[in-house]
Amino acid sequence: MPSLSEETHGAVKMLQPGATIGIIGGGQLGRMMALSAKYMGFRIGVLDPTPDCPTAQVADFQIVGEYDDKTAIHDLAEKSDVLTYEFENVDAEAIDEVRHLVAAPQGTDLLRVTQDRVHEKTFINEHGTETAPWREVNDFDELEAAIDELHYPCVLKTRSGGYDGHGQHVLKNDADLEKIRARGDRGGGFPPSILEGFVDFAFEASILVSGNGEQYVTFPIVRNDHRNNILHMTIAPAEVSPEIAKAAHELALRLAKGFELAGTLAIELFVTKDNRVIVNELAPRPHNSGHYTIEACSIDQFDAHIRGIAGWPLIQPKLLSPAVMVNVLGQHVLPTRAQIASHPEWNVHDYGKAQLRHNRKMGHITVLTDDTAATVAALEATGCWDDLK
Ligand code: AMP
Repeated sequence: MPSLSEETHGAVKMLQPGATIGIIGGGQLGRMMALSAKYMGFRIGVLDPTPDCPTAQVADFQIVGEYDDKTAIHDLAEKSDVLTYEFENVDAEAIDEVRHLVAAPQGTDLLRVTQDRVHEKTFINEHGTETAPWREVNDFDELEAAIDELHYPCVLKTRSGGYDGHGQHVLKNDADLEKIRARGDRGGGFPPSILEGFVDFAFEASILVSGNGEQYVTFPIVRNDHRNNILHMTIAPAEVSPEIAKAAHELALRLAKGFELAGTLAIELFVTKDNRVIVNELAPRPHNSGHYTIEACSIDQFDAHIRGIAGWPLIQPKLLSPAVMVNVLGQHVLPTRAQIASHPEWNVHDYGKAQLRHNRKMGHITVLTDDTAATVAALEATGCWDDLK
């Protein structure tokens, strides 16, 4: 595992308005980072293979190229004062290679840890924080041995590259195990993986933490509802006991300090039926479950990310109103657009994606409310999200 001591960034040098922030990845997260940065007077460059991608529409310039194209990353670095990224599968080595040209306040250790489930779980556990019980498994024999220890049901996940449930198998019995063996026998191989004990959670939650290398602030713990492994809805704040909220804030601060975090980090959690908070995984960037912060918090996750990487001071975000955020996937675009006229309470966000595809995140809607249960019911009653029922 990379050692953080090799790279102690500490306080980030303060960036002045007018400086250029280069973003690797031009989707909706980059777009919302860019919008925050523009308010503060920064210039934005974005690297993305798709011309006129969501971020490019609000940026000062785009470099059209693949995310791992070293020449393109070099080009972006030369034109920027600070580099950041909107997703975790960025080539850390490529960023290290341009650090003589540009500041990378988030460092690359954060990327290396969060790109690899073994490093990630080790880091979390070493920082006094619970995860599901897990074992590294590199072949079928190791998988069988790990199942003997962790028992069914359990979840097999690839060490790297998985997202939204891709690269995951829930194993409930020997028949499921045999399917994994058969896949290997058919030449599918056995990618480096981890086996996790199945967490019988009451619900899924998340918490965001932002830092500038020496000061860290947390956002409220929120409740997340996934459908088909994709986030459907976030309810802010989650209805949890003060003890659970405190545990979530404390673990977020421990992890942020451990990383000497600059920017925003999302921590996906399980809240168990016996009232424990367990970390599922980390995302070293703003997160879909934090979009509610744009309207509902005194400073949002994108502002905090930009302030953090720019070395600006941070202030503890306040929740100004409870909120419900619902994702608009490809199949929800037409039904929701047809109803915008009837819903002045909808804060409508559209990411400007040219191609509408089933299950693709195209936008989201946030509703500020005093009654989250009634708002959830009202959103569901529109029929726009009936395919997810
Ligand atoms: P991940 O890609 O690790 O975020 O997992 C995707 C989804 O699978 C999570 O949001 C959970 O709903 C479920 N999941 C992942 N790991 C576990 C686990 N150890 N126990 C129970 N459910 C899990």
